[in-house]
This record gives sequence, C-alpha cells and structure tokens, in this order.
Amino acid sequence: SDVLRLAGVSKTYGKDGPAPVEVLHGLELNVARGEVVALVAPSGAGKSTLLHIAGLLDTPDSGLVELNGRDMHGLPDRARTEARRRELGFVYQFHHLLPEFSAAENIILPQLANGVGAGMAAKRAAELLDRVGMAHRADHRPAQLSGGEQQRVAFCRALANEPSLLLADEPTGNLDPETSDRVFEVLMGLVRETGLSALIATHNHALAERMDRVIRLGEDIS
Ligand code: ADP
Ligand code: ADP
Repeated sequence: SDVLRLAGVSKTYGKDGPAPVEVLHGLELNVARGEVVALVAPSGAGKSTLLHIAGLLDTPDSGLVELNGRDMHGLPDRARTEARRRELGFVYQFHHLLPEFSAAENIILPQLANGVGAGMAAKRAAELLDRVGMAHRADHRPAQLSGGEQQRVAFCRALANEPSLLLADEPTGNLDPETSDRVFEVLMGLVRETGLSALIATHNHALAERMDRVIRLGEDIS
C-alpha cells in the first residue's frame, strides 16, 4: 500500500496576474510503505511546492493527494494539522531545534504535544538518541553540538511521534561532504530500522543513488 499518493498534481502561482507560473504539471508520485524515494530537482522546478503539498502545508490547484489512503482534499485545517502531527515527520537543511532546550527535550516536546506521557516521551527520546549515537549529548543544547550532531537530533525529533512518512529537504545540505555522508548513513539506518517511508530532496546525486528510487522534477515533464 502507498503511504503517499499524488495524482495529476498541478499548482499555478499568480493565477490572476499577468504571468501565471504552473509547476508540477500533473505530477504522479507514489511512495510505498517502507520505500525511500529521492527527489532531485533543479532550482525552480517545484521541489518546495511539492514538499509543501506532500507536507499538507499547501494544496494543489488540481489533482489528488492521499496520505495513508485518505484523501486530503477539502480536509478542514484542524484535521490537516492533526494529520501533519501524527503521520508526518519533517527534516530541513537547518536543524530548527529550539535553542533553549536540550537535545532530549527537543525530542520530548513534540511527543507531549501529541498527548504522550512524560515518562514515555523521555524513554523514547533516550532510545532515539542512543540509536544515532548521541546518548552522551542528551543534555546538551543545540549550540553545544556540531552541525552533524544537530542534524542527528533533528532526525530523532522528526521520528519522535512515529510518523509513517518522513519528508526531508536537503537534510545534509548544510554539512561538509564527509560529515554529510556519515550523517546520511545515520538517517538511512534510522529510516530502515523503523520501516519508515521517506521522500528526501537532495542535490547530491551520490546520495540519491543510495535510495530505492529517484524521482526527477523538471525533466521529461512539461
Ligand atoms: P524549487 O523549490 O524547486 O526551487 P519552488 O517550488 O519554490 O521551486 O517554485 C517553483 C516555481 O514557482 C518557481 O518558478 C517560482 O518562482 C514559482 N513560485 C514559487 N512560489 C511562488 C509564489 N508564492 N508566487 C509566485 N511564484 C512562485
Ligand atoms: P562532527 O564530527 O560531528 O562534525 P565536530 O568535529 O564538529 O563534530 O565536533 C567534535 C565535538 O566537539 C563534538 O562532539 C561536539 O559536541 C563538540 N562541539 C562542536 N562544536 C561545539 C561548540 N560550538 N561548543 C561545544 N562543543 C562543540
């Protein structure tokens, strides 16, 4: 079964202006359960638009968006927010951790917001940090961590609520090549271990080739 299904998805910016811009052009994209899909797109091809639509932050002008078999069209804002919180995990180029909280707290807080008890949340945070080799950094704040360590904590946070789909935008794009490689391995290990599905945008072709399938935007599509 597909975790994510986009069918015939298009978005037009500036519809009512003099120079409308259509992106995605009826895109078809499925992500199966447990599948890790790379998204490779030159700048301007619509990568951000696609991630926003898949992340339920934006809606297409036409086409179907299904998350875990459920049609997202016309869903009220509250239900979309709920689906985002429960079913999706997000990772960006920059870690976006809360600076005044420790690594563990950054992983605990989204669980509390989802109704998980404090004890369970702390246990899960500790387990996740351990899996990414960060147990010894649990009480450190983001500023006390290296770039690679910050991203590893961000991965843990994205997985805190056991989402079914991880959406990542250049998750190692901010790191030097060697660190990027190592941290990417950590992310893939975590994804594989949990059976998570992922859509990972990257400019790094070597990393893209290590995923199950590569989707290219802005080529062969017009
Ligand atoms: P990418 O992330 O691949 O660079 P985007 O999805 O951000 O691409 O944008 C795709 C195209 O849509 C670009 O040509 C961009 O200029 C245009 N676009 C994006 N957002 C807007 C907007 N809010 N208003 C008008 N045009 C936009
Ligand atoms: P990495 O190999 O992950 O890039 P670094 O070589 O940058 O790690 O950092 C080595 C160690 O120094 C890390 O364990 C990190 O916790 C610590 N460290 C890095 N930057 C800082 C900082 N600004 N303040 C305190 N400790 C730091």
